[in-house]
Amino acid sequence: MERFDVVVVGAGVFGAWTASHFARRDKRVLLVDSYGPANSRASSAGESRIIRMGYGADEIYTRMSQNSLAQWKEFFGFKRPGLFHETGVLWLASEGDARIRDTAATLARCGVEFEQLDRAALEKRYPQIHLNGIATAIFEPTSGVLMARRAVAAVVEDAIFRGVEYRVGEIVTPSTGAGMKSISSVKTRAGEEFEADVFVFACGSWLGKIFPDVLGDRIFPTRQEIYFFGIPPGDSRFSPAALPTFLFQGDETYGMPDIEARGFKIALDRHGPRVDPDTQSRVVTEAAADEVRKYVAGRFPALRDAPIVETRVCQYENTSNGDFLIDRHPGAENLWFVGGGSGHGFKHGPAVGEYVAKRILEGAADEPRFSLETKDKVQHRAVY
Ligand SMILES: Cc1cc2nc3c(=O)[nH]c(=O)nc-3n(C[C@H](O)[C@H](O)[C@H](O)COP(=O)(O)OP(=O)(O)OC[C@H]3O[C@@H](n4cnc5c(N)ncnc54)[C@H](O)[C@@H]3O)c2cc1C
Repeated sequence: MERFDVVVVGAGVFGAWTASHFARRDKRVLLVDSYGPANSRASSAGESRIIRMGYGADEIYTRMSQNSLAQWKEFFGFKRPGLFHETGVLWLASEGDARIRDTAATLARCGVEFEQLDRAALEKRYPQIHLNGIATAIFEPTSGVLMARRAVAAVVEDAIFRGVEYRVGEIVTPSTGAGMKSISSVKTRAGEEFEADVFVFACGSWLGKIFPDVLGDRIFPTRQEIYFFGIPPGDSRFSPAALPTFLFQGDETYGMPDIEARGFKIALDRHGPRVDPDTQSRVVTEAAADEVRKYVAGRFPALRDAPIVETRVCQYENTSNGDFLIDRHPGAENLWFVGGGSGHGFKHGPAVGEYVAKRILEGAADEPRFSLETKDKVQHRAVY
């Protein structure tokens, strides 16, 4: 049997950064994943993910985004410059939107650079957007897009360079309870066994499958579809120089400009049906494709006849309200859950990894919002 200081199960963005932060603190780490870093079934698998600072009144996530953006940029450095695109992020809002007011107040308090734009300014800057129902916006010029799948692969590669051992393997549910206070090892389905002092399960949508008694009804994996529309030939109105990444809660949508010539990306930010991350279909449905086509034609008239050039199907790993889950298993004090990214977790990978390492190794204060106790069995989404 092999022995490590820490076993991290799951090489998505949370597990990769957690392994990296433990390795930076000289711990002997095993990182193990059933399929591979940011594999096609994982929530971290997307081509691209938004990193923005705005979070309404949820200052905790604004501050984590600030911390994470600094860490992502330092990590990418000169070696991996293409993994962050500073497209800017535009928060579109209708008249009197309370969330946009809260976002502006929080960004100002946290020292985040932003601009407020009225309807006239929006019309002038973004003629490619049909602004029906939109009255105002916040623009974060230094936020943008992380190239998700490749960024996670790079973090794992760097972690291996720092001494982390990486293996492919499916870890089975460890036995807990019956008077036990901790666990001493985990096993793969193939029978390998790994001993350690600490075990971190950063298994995204799988957390409920691995720990059905504790998390089966506290993690809600939902099906989410993403579409890329091919821009008209030679048209630069949808390039990152002309169109920022945008979000409009009123329409429950977000999208991105034509990055790396993948096309204009758009998604509905509405929870789909509950799915199994191992087996759900990765093919989009015709009904959803029609809805998205109609939406794009209305909001971006120049893309009325644009073809869908690529699609992705993924799953959010929601907690009841969208707050992360970072806490101990109630039956084993050295077994940690790290997950609940809830459709907004990717950007926070570096800050989450740092928080986990500091909390476990240095006894850093816990954040009550991340506790298991606060996770309900009924969904009432509050964090976006
Ligand atoms: C469509 C979509 C759009 C999103 N957009 C954004 C965005 O714009 N900005 C943003 O910040 N966030 C966004 N998110 C959320 C973000 O991508 C997720 O919160 C984040 O990637 C979750 O990472 P994770 O490491 O917790 O989970 P995952 O990436 O799912 O990783 C979990 C890993 O655990 C492994 N695993 C599971 N069970 C086992 C086992 N038994 N043994 C070994 N390994 C196991 C899996 O193979 C997987 O690799 C989006 C998510 C989706 C789906």
